[in-house]
Amino acid sequence: MGRPSRVRVSARALAHNLKVAQRQASDSRIMTIVKADAYGHGLEWAAGVLEESGAHAFGVACIEEGIRLREAGIRCPVFILEGFFHPDELRAVQALDLGLVLHHPEQIEAVLEEGTEAAPIPCFLKVDSGMHRLGVSPREAPLHAERLARSPGVAWYGLLSHMARADTPDDPYNAGQIDCLRRVAAMLPDGCPLSLANSAALLALPHSHMDWVRPGLMLFGASPLEGRSGAELGLEPVLHLESRVIAVRHLEPGQWLGYGTGFQAEEPVRVGVVPLGYGDGYPRHLETGTPVRVGDKPTRTLGRVCMDMTFVDLSSLPEEGEDSLVELLGPGVPAEILARGAGTIPYEILCGLRNRLRRVTQ
Ligand SMILES: *Cc1c(COP(=O)(O)O)cnc(C)c1O
Repeated sequence: MGRPSRVRVSARALAHNLKVAQRQASDSRIMTIVKADAYGHGLEWAAGVLEESGAHAFGVACIEEGIRLREAGIRCPVFILEGFFHPDELRAVQALDLGLVLHHPEQIEAVLEEGTEAAPIPCFLKVDSGMHRLGVSPREAPLHAERLARSPGVAWYGLLSHMARADTPDDPYNAGQIDCLRRVAAMLPDGCPLSLANSAALLALPHSHMDWVRPGLMLFGASPLEGRSGAELGLEPVLHLESRVIAVRHLEPGQWLGYGTGFQAEEPVRVGVVPLGYGDGYPRHLETGTPVRVGDKPTRTLGRVCMDMTFVDLSSLPEEGEDSLVELLGPGVPAEILARGAGTIPYEILCGLRNRLRRVTQ
């Protein structure tokens, strides 16, 4: 019923990608990152599959996402990666047994004050090892860490930092960040658990693995590494963006298609109209020639992407027509390819898909 455009997500592929992460970082615990609605895949669904498949913890961006996980029945530790935005949130953090990644001295003081022995707050301390976004400085980190580790109101998880250039693993900047975090840990009398690696580091920088790895993108089957595809890394796309052809048009040589001057036929062209567009998160920056599959055969888009419609070339696919299945993103059209065409990264392609798309889980 209704518009045939939909997102279909595969539990099997998600569990497979988690297994790839587990195999690559077999000595580390895994905090699966499911912020931004699990990179557009559906937060509750993805977390349910990941918990069942052996994830040890979850990372989210804000308390609202943490609350959704608890309401969905997730029992693993859940960490809010930017900590709280206002001390008011601490009440819900404690009531729902959520964890915090603390990056600011005020957050640290609030937790030391509010945490109780009966319900200690799970905490990582974020250290700025070179990203210069969030985190306490490496110089100040040992003092904060010692106080947190000693506090009975804190369930101490250790030091956490984030890598700025892991997508280009050969960059020496990466080794500098790894060293920095290890040096801070070495200043603590009892040492402490460490967490640094995102997907790219998990896949390409084994020295960065430490105690907790934090994969996000790779779980969803896309490659975080420049110049390497998800398939080359053994990953499977989890999400299929699908629709059907709702009309077939015939262009004569010289005729223009759609808005503006996106495409002009040089010879007779058979066009399929697909009811999905930038209003669904399919990027308008994609130009004529973007790969797409119709009836599981490769072809290309034509002209400008509209808000609710996109055109596909059926000239070489005479057997396809109205009602043919169209794959715009998925195993046959990886997010990396769309990202390149739209001048962005696979992250933005995936988490840009809109909720107005019908969702089917399997
Ligand atoms: C988003 C995020 C991750 C996961 O990054 P990927 O590149 O998607 O693997 C890990 N850690 C932190 C702090 C993050 O914000």
